[in-house]
Amino acid sequence: MSRTALIACHTCDTLVRKLPLGGNTQARCPRCNELLYRAGGSPLDRVCAYTVAALITFVIAQGFPILEMNVNGMHVQTTLLGAVQAMWNQGMGIVATMVFCATLLFPFTEMAALLYVMLPLRAGRIPRGFGTVLRAIGLVRPWGMIEVFMLGILVTIVKMVSLAQVVPEAALFAFAALTLMLTVVVMFDPRALWDLADELRGANRAGDDPARTTTAAREGMASCQVCGLVQTLADGRHAVPAHCARCGSTLRLRFPNSLARTWAFLLAAMILYIPANLLPMMRTSSIVGSQSDTIMSGVVYFWVSGDWPLAVVVFVASILVPMLKLGVLLILVITAQRRSSWRPMQRTTLYRVVEHIGRWSMLDIFVVTLTVVLVQFRSLAVITAGPGALAFGSVVILTMLASLQFDPRLIWDPVETSGKHHE
Ligand SMILES: [Zn+2]
Ligand SMILES: [Zn+2]
Repeated sequence: MSRTALIACHTCDTLVRKLPLGGNTQARCPRCNELLYRAGGSPLDRVCAYTVAALITFVIAQGFPILEMNVNGMHVQTTLLGAVQAMWNQGMGIVATMVFCATLLFPFTEMAALLYVMLPLRAGRIPRGFGTVLRAIGLVRPWGMIEVFMLGILVTIVKMVSLAQVVPEAALFAFAALTLMLTVVVMFDPRALWDLADELRGANRAGDDPARTTTAAREGMASCQVCGLVQTLADGRHAVPAHCARCGSTLRLRFPNSLARTWAFLLAAMILYIPANLLPMMRTSSIVGSQSDTIMSGVVYFWVSGDWPLAVVVFVASILVPMLKLGVLLILVITAQRRSSWRPMQRTTLYRVVEHIGRWSMLDIFVVTLTVVLVQFRSLAVITAGPGALAFGSVVILTMLASLQFDPRLIWDPVETSGKHHE
């Protein structure tokens, strides 16, 4: 592969020529230090093998029970689907749907879609609906949360061992293996598949060399949000919605109405954050009486009962991370709106942090889902989900939507490309 192509950093829009890399190196953006692409001899075979293995492990993880609880000779065990169904039967349909999508539907869609495009590409042909399937992968990828669910299982075990005998079942180990395999699969950028398809078609998409450090927008170019191809817009900045020459998706300089949409999701999340913290996540009814637990009272309970590592994990995932996310998004959207050129590097770092840690707040939702299906001992204690779970789950989804709608290039647009920010 001798052909080199032009790429635009998706965080700051800087134009960079894509050069072949050797060994195990990575290319980073000269302006904002974003990871642009990784080297890899023939990653396709490796990613294919991992995806096939992950898909088989996924079937095992879904087909077998995860945990079994034993109390006084009574046994309760559950599969993931069983837990989702229990949540549904308690009238928490929306929460059940969130868990179903994050742990079943989206991870499965991503793996199946990857195999659908990668297996024919390996054999040297482009499958039907190539572009549509790749676009689907981009859509579902941020929402698959197997690794968060795995942590949820571990937290549930630690929580339960003081109440009952907890027996790990086959699916627990399958989920652990699946988490490891998916980290390899997710490292793979599906945009590389567009380049492979181009090679098969014999298309040469090399662009002109930028003479100086500049952004795609300043050169009248836009990078396709789906396939990453950098192309010149017909009449520059004010072009009517154009379409990508490679994948056909709508070509835009920046996300449309990025700030307005980010604001909408952010405000909705801030409002729901209040009931999420005040309403009970879980209700426990036992012979001694009934008790409601909010997120905070759950953390306090772990702390006073001596499970302080668990208290810290739940505190960070359920209280600190959502608060941090709301605060950081607020700073990002206000500074971008005022076209501030204040510390773009630090603001970009904040954006990356928010993008990566947001998903971990789903932890508490997964713990509640597993708890309500496992603690069903009619003579001793029954735990049901409370309305706080719905509010809290909505906050997590809304903040993730807000950060997906925010265009990080708006941080860099007011900043001059003078070379001041090199290195
Ligand atoms: Zn950059
Ligand atoms: Zn495209």
